[in-house]
Amino acid sequence: MRPTGPLHLGNLHGALANWVKIQDQYDCFFFIADWHALTSDYEDTSEISNYVKNMMIDWLSVGLSPEKSTLFVQSHIKEHAELFLILSMITPVSWLERNPTYKDQIVQLSNKDLSTFGFLGYPVLQAADIIIYKADGVPVGVDQVPHVEITREIARRFNFLYGNVFPEPEAILTETPKILGTDRRKMSKSYDNAIYLSDSPEKILKTVSRMITDPQRARREDPGDPDVCNVFEFHKLYSDKTILDDIDPKCRNAKIGCVECKQIMAKNLADTLEPIREKRAFYESQPELVDEIIRNGDEKAKKIVIKTMEEVRSVIKI
Ligand code: SF4
Repeated sequence: MRPTGPLHLGNLHGALANWVKIQDQYDCFFFIADWHALTSDYEDTSEISNYVKNMMIDWLSVGLSPEKSTLFVQSHIKEHAELFLILSMITPVSWLERNPTYKDQIVQLSNKDLSTFGFLGYPVLQAADIIIYKADGVPVGVDQVPHVEITREIARRFNFLYGNVFPEPEAILTETPKILGTDRRKMSKSYDNAIYLSDSPEKILKTVSRMITDPQRARREDPGDPDVCNVFEFHKLYSDKTILDDIDPKCRNAKIGCVECKQIMAKNLADTLEPIREKRAFYESQPELVDEIIRNGDEKAKKIVIKTMEEVRSVIKI
């Protein structure tokens, strides 16, 4: 996960909630991809180390466990960069140019100059990040499947050229609820449309109050349609069934206004996030503990990559 800012609900539902579950099923490695943060944020790196710390605090607060999983920071394990360099020698540029996320991000983040070698090549770094642990699977959303596919292709090419070192990882797909930002685009810090795990109840209410609702409902007396309303999607995640059953017909018959509906949702959302906020406060007050957790995770990761890179150097005879 790239440390480009505080974590938001999109990160929670799109990845973290699933990670917390799968750490009981698999031997998991989760890392904070600070080198990947440079691909889009290379001009101003002043906040990255702060984001790294805060990301680990967010991870621990939502339930990722250093006892069950290996939690570490990418740039602390220099072997990722070594493998990236080697893989970049064997990866055709055409594979990278057809990456759909690459094209999409260039358009979406038009305020940044992403015409760099590093941005084009980030799937190669991702491939190194994954196969250096000889991973069998990668938990991803559907939009990330092409990245796993290119990782498989790169691993296959390496094995073909030098010998069988890397398994080809599978995408571990899970259903994730669709959660959009306040403006109905994908929730993202870059779009300034996110609700953060660390937000106070007051801040949540403020952000929710500017959420776009049913676009056809211009006035309080107009009937609304919960099926096309982003606020109602949030209700489905944070409010119980009684509230859904109450709001749905009231909305359709203009018996409830969007302001009231948003207040109810914001309260339920803030209540759901309360245990995470409490844990956050605990880890924020224990910075040495967080540092120690990162150090221990780094050490566990390091042991594995040292072995893998010995094999890699041996087969490529350098
Ligand atoms: S009342 Fe609620 S569900 Fe209906 S349009 Fe307004 S915010 Fe959406």
